[in-house]
Amino acid sequence: MASPYAIRIIGDPVLRQRASDVTEIDGRLAALCQDMYVTMYEAQGAGLAAPQVGVQKRFMVYDLGAGDGPQVLINPVITESDGECEFYEGCLSVPGLRFDIVRPSTVNITGLNLDEHEVEFEADDFLGRLMQHELDHLNGILLIDHLDEDQRRSAKKALRKIAMEAPSGVAGLGAELASPAKPKFGLFRS
Ligand SMILES: [Zn+2]
Repeated sequence: MASPYAIRIIGDPVLRQRASDVTEIDGRLAALCQDMYVTMYEAQGAGLAAPQVGVQKRFMVYDLGAGDGPQVLINPVITESDGECEFYEGCLSVPGLRFDIVRPSTVNITGLNLDEHEVEFEADDFLGRLMQHELDHLNGILLIDHLDEDQRRSAKKALRKIAMEAPSGVAGLGAELASPAKPKFGLFRS
């Protein structure tokens, strides 16, 4: 089955905007999630945030590959975070790049599911990392914003390569390359 969506790539301004809350959980949203599952599986990703398919809403789909099937989390909020750990992180919107990134090791999450029920859980290990990564997408933050100076230099090299090979849709990559290092987003604070 062909993927219903093209995953937006770094340089696309939609990835740099803050998404707005989902106000209506309806059949349209459920259908959108179904399409996002297909896109996520086709890209062999573990998670996909709505802005990555051009939808400016605060929700994500994910599948940890543990046999639970795909999950949806709507209007997620991190209510608490604890510890810190390094994780070799990649992103479907920043193809070909992976970096060791330090983030809190455990986060408490609240949100809604498609049945409009509130869900609350503690996430550590891979799930904790995935939640923080996808939540970043909902706030217009990409993994390159978490890099130190050395990592940033090699990221820029790789980004230039992406810009050369990518279709015209990534015209904004020039701006990404020119932008100064962004401040860290309270990485070690809760
Ligand atoms: Zn990502």
